[in-house]
Amino acid sequence: MTGPRIYLDHHATTPLDPRALEAMTPWLTEKFGNAASREHDFGREAADAVEVARVKVAALIGADESEIVFTSGATESDNLAIKGSAVDRVVTVATEHPAVLDSCASIERAGRAQVVRIKVTPDGLINLDEVKRELRDRTLVSVMFANNEIGVIQDIPAIGALCKERGAIFHSDAAQAAGKVPIDVRAMDIHLLSISAHKLYGLKGIGALYVRKRSPRVKLTPLIDGGGHEHGLRSGTLNVPGIVGFGAACELARTEMKSEAERLKKLRDRLWNGLRSRLDQVTLNGHPEKRLPGNLNVSFKHVESESLMVALEGIALSSGAACTTAKAEPSHVLRALGLPEDLARASIRFGLGRGTTQDEIDTVIERVASAVVKLRKLSPLYKASR
Ligand SMILES: *Cc1c(COP(=O)(O)O)cnc(C)c1O
Repeated sequence: MTGPRIYLDHHATTPLDPRALEAMTPWLTEKFGNAASREHDFGREAADAVEVARVKVAALIGADESEIVFTSGATESDNLAIKGSAVDRVVTVATEHPAVLDSCASIERAGRAQVVRIKVTPDGLINLDEVKRELRDRTLVSVMFANNEIGVIQDIPAIGALCKERGAIFHSDAAQAAGKVPIDVRAMDIHLLSISAHKLYGLKGIGALYVRKRSPRVKLTPLIDGGGHEHGLRSGTLNVPGIVGFGAACELARTEMKSEAERLKKLRDRLWNGLRSRLDQVTLNGHPEKRLPGNLNVSFKHVESESLMVALEGIALSSGAACTTAKAEPSHVLRALGLPEDLARASIRFGLGRGTTQDEIDTVIERVASAVVKLRKLSPLYKASR
């Protein structure tokens, strides 16, 4: 492959922002103290840096800093929110991330709670009446903010209002939404919210769970016991450089969100318009407007996405379910939309991000269009459909 590589897989991970790295660097070198060692300067300066970062993470989602629990990432935050809640019932959605679905399956298997998985409409949204119908006493509702495959953004404030009215606890996995679209845990009546640093240009292996402290105070049982760090909710020596970088990344995401979202949306629309003007039988997966600005998920009928990705060597994309890479089955998200298997297998997820340029998008349009045309020439089904 000649030419520069193009990265369009920002839902899988994002590069560390150089400005976040710069903030982290002293904490990787001379400032090595343990944030729990408050009896000396080395520890105190580390503890102070963690608290500064905590304020920045909280500011991104409208929380108080005392409500932020640092974890190893959104997977752990989802596990803590779901397995750590004392409830009899969990209402979740078929299109959730495996970190949520598998945590729910785990408590279901253990006989700790009944789990209800609600369906989505063909554009990936949930029906609020269905959520309302499923609420009982001691219920946790876990609905992701934005989907990692199709980018669809649920009506989070409306779900929050339903939960508040019925006294249910509301958890949202915001790994894809945080830093991309505005989040206000108070205005949206969210009780628990999962975030991951590496999805917003911070480091891998660091994240947070927002745990509401007031009206109501949410009680969780920790998954990891030990020194009682993070209000006893997550023991273990804090990853100070990772947390400092996470704080810096959250601050950058917050201040640049509006302009970056507009830029990405323009590029994303250019990509979609470019593809559909050059190709027939291409369909958009997920709601056309209620989606992340940097997300496009497209099915190219009569083309196997795996073959398309091979033809597009040098362009980092994702087919089907990115988070369960080893599996050959089509994505559970696309199947939940009601896509037939052939269209689910013909889908590509384009994830645009901070480094994406218009030149890259134009290159991708041309390369995808010519690869699809070539592959379809080999397809008797495509010929028959014309
Ligand atoms: C990436 C992702 C996760 C997992 O986050 P990690 O920090 O990598 O553990 C969970 N949920 C969603 C929606 C994601 O996109």
